[in-house]
Amino acid sequence: MSRFEVEAREVLLRRRRTLSRSPSTVPASQDPSARWADYEAAEAQPEGVARELADIDAALERIQEGRYGTCQSCGGPMGLQRLRAIPEARYCLACSGQAHAVE
Ligand SMILES: [Zn+2]
Repeated sequence: MSRFEVEAREVLLRRRRTLSRSPSTVPASQDPSARWADYEAAEAQPEGVARELADIDAALERIQEGRYGTCQSCGGPMGLQRLRAIPEARYCLACSGQAHAVE
């Protein structure tokens, strides 16, 4: 694992923790049915958060497999600048530009 991958992994894990912490979750000490509350809070997560968590997990998997930093569309390098901006990015700038051509 390269130094950059170690750094990216740290950022992704931290981001994952922040996203997982749903503000609507009732603290366990105040709610005897906290398990169900946690479950429902997870279910009620906005789709955007769930999607980002999935992207983060995918990125962590790529780090593990040594494929991190490679565009999933063209297979080219993503570039450090792009990964620093969006560590969980799946595609390089050119490919993501094509995916969002309408913007
Ligand atoms: Zn690409």
